Amino acid sequence: MTLFNLGSINVDKVYRVSHLPGPGETLAATGFQQGLGGKGANMSVAAARAAARITHIGAVGADGRWAVERMMEYGVDTRHIAVTETATGHAIICVDDAGENSIVLFPGANRIISDAMIGQALSQASPGDTLIMQNETNGQVTAARMARDLGLRVAYAAAPFEASAVQEVLGLIDLLVLNEVEATQLETETGSNLKDLGVSDIIVTLGSKGCRWLSDEGVMHFDAIPVTPVDTTGAGDTFTGYLVAGLDRKMPMAQAIGLATRAAALMVTRHGTADVIPDLKEIQDQTF
Ligand code: ADP
Repeated sequence: MTLFNLGSINVDKVYRVSHLPGPGETLAATGFQQGLGGKGANMSVAAARAAARITHIGAVGADGRWAVERMMEYGVDTRHIAVTETATGHAIICVDDAGENSIVLFPGANRIISDAMIGQALSQASPGDTLIMQNETNGQVTAARMARDLGLRVAYAAAPFEASAVQEVLGLIDLLVLNEVEATQLETETGSNLKDLGVSDIIVTLGSKGCRWLSDEGVMHFDAIPVTPVDTTGAGDTFTGYLVAGLDRKMPMAQAIGLATRAAALMVTRHGTADVIPDLKEIQDQTF
């Protein structure tokens, strides 16, 4: 089957600084690194590394062509990524000597995805395929409606959390993935328990404590794999990409969660985001 991911593509620009700049301050960075990021791109790369067939639906500016090429190298179908006049979404990340950071996020082209683009991509889908979405693009409600009409399963990662956006799609999704903080925010916003939201499968990730799966059958806990983390950026995206890839391969939920847990554990032992997401073989070779 095929996965379709309506997802953000960001260029992460990481500046090393002695301290985080204050108001009016001009500061020389001591280092600079640029990489592929964005929750959407991370999930597409993770799914491709998990050997799934994945089509990314998104947009960049001309300055983001290299990011699209890199996604293609990792095995993502990039034919439905538009190159637009608007600048590519990017994150300006300052990291100081103490490891503290500050981030400015410019959504750019991620927010100008047209209904026509979504429709064109999903016209290639077949019943049983899956649509994945997060909150860094526009178009989630349109995409979920189209996907439902076409008989697709809809998976949604409620991040970054935005109450109105999440509530709008709740009635249109089959699988909801969110972390502990987002789960609390959602329960507070809706005034109801997660299990009463009407979504058939909900996974709450709990960082080093693993995750919880809520379904009609009840609640099941899965432990994380004990590792020494060096960078937890992208752990959740890797987890979700692998999870949907496993489900797409008709794995039962518990098995797909097991695979996602192993992938995310290996991911947190590495510095970086999309460029270091492990592939299936690396996960199988791990002896945890
Ligand atoms: P997010 O990055 O979205 O906040 P989490 O921090 O909950 O998500 O992490 C997602 C998954 O990654 C967890 O369910 C777990 O499987 C794995 N993970 C995260 N942190 C660790 C860690 N320190 N050790 C092992 N696994 C981890």
